[in-house]
Amino acid sequence: MDPKEKERLLQADRRYVWHPFTQMKDYAERDPILIEKAEGVYLFDADGNRYYDTNSSWWVNVHGHAHPRIREAIEKQLRQADHVMFAGLTHRPGIELAERLVQVTPQGLDKVFYSDNGSTSVEVALKMSFQYWQQSGRAGKTKFAFVENSYHGDTIGAVSVGSVDQYFSVFRPLLFAAFGVPSPDPRNDPNGDAETSAAAALEAVRALFAASADQIAAIIVEPMLQAAGGMIMYAASYLQGLRQLCSEYDVHLIADEVAVGFGRTGRMFGCNHAGISPDFMCLSKGLTAGVLPLSVTMTTAAVFDAFYDDYAKLKTFTHGHSFTGNPLSAAAALESLQILEDERVLEHVEEVSAHLSERVLRFQAFQGVAHLRTLGMVAAFDLYKDAALGARYALEDRMGFHIYLEGLNEGLFLRPLGDTIYYWLPLCTTKAQIDDIVERTFRVLRRVLPSAGE
Ligand code: PMP
Repeated sequence: MDPKEKERLLQADRRYVWHPFTQMKDYAERDPILIEKAEGVYLFDADGNRYYDTNSSWWVNVHGHAHPRIREAIEKQLRQADHVMFAGLTHRPGIELAERLVQVTPQGLDKVFYSDNGSTSVEVALKMSFQYWQQSGRAGKTKFAFVENSYHGDTIGAVSVGSVDQYFSVFRPLLFAAFGVPSPDPRNDPNGDAETSAAAALEAVRALFAASADQIAAIIVEPMLQAAGGMIMYAASYLQGLRQLCSEYDVHLIADEVAVGFGRTGRMFGCNHAGISPDFMCLSKGLTAGVLPLSVTMTTAAVFDAFYDDYAKLKTFTHGHSFTGNPLSAAAALESLQILEDERVLEHVEEVSAHLSERVLRFQAFQGVAHLRTLGMVAAFDLYKDAALGARYALEDRMGFHIYLEGLNEGLFLRPLGDTIYYWLPLCTTKAQIDDIVERTFRVLRRVLPSAGE
């Protein structure tokens, strides 16, 4: 791009744009990267620099950028019908996608409610569960439970059932109260044992349900991986136990698969690792291959039936968004599901994820690297000032941020979560690309971390 054009755009960005999750003062010192092109696992900036998109553009991208089949599916649909209302009207991509989703998700999830982002899919699940109990003679079940270190989105309901940390504490007076239960985080166990942590966390759920299930509509969980809470990977037995407790105590189980859905963890859905079916499943991000906004909240016929009555009985689920069920997004999603099948993407993931787990072991050479963990296309570790003493860096040290900056010099877009460094790779990433990404990351760590040997 012409340097003058680049400068004009960045000036306009500084003047007019307010970016999400960003302290805009940071941009007074350092411009955001102006991306001109995205292709495969790469991003290209206005100067022609290439970066690996190691977080799949905020955890959405599945088959790499600019996949020709996705583009063609969207173009074809665009010639047919761009966007139409989804109440009173319906359309082929919306219908066919619902049909496919019912086939590929765990058994029992037979109804598909569309919205347009992950947070709204969570809001829909919360509201549906709440209204279900109101209409099923259990009006006292008005509260929700959540797992500590969870994140379910930025809207008020979703924040209320997330772990309220420094970023959200300002909103506390606006939020509804919810019951928090401990995370099954293996790091909580002195020996780092995932099964022990899961069992202890389940005991807390049992105690909560035994005391308060008559007040609890649902518990919400991120299956297998608490993503924004720090890439916490836990045992499948936790999900199995949760499913059992929910059935035993008549509490809905909401699986928030917004981040992990569509193969990222090595299985199609996080719930598949545990062989369980939730009462609600929230999907977004990878649903459209990460190309257009769309989300769904899936639920059971039992939930649906509690809303099905004469209009005047006022049992309708009164919720909807302008872009609900957008046909372009639905066409992209259908094509993405077809690619997952045709290109045997999950088989590819099985192979390359084993390679990824093995390659990242190199980072153990750094004494400040701890809790190295991988699941499918996700790999993460935590930075410690002194891992042996358990000493973390101070917030002002912005250690993760230094790694991010050095990553850019190495052609990596490696955006950390605080001091947790992670990859969230597109499913199409090859072994050779993984080798290259790990090699570049190693060079970054060698420059930023105090001591290293190999
Ligand atoms: N749930 C989970 C598990 C997520 O990771 C996210 C987003 N990172 C959301 C919900 C919210 O999705 P969105 O950003 O599309 O609103």
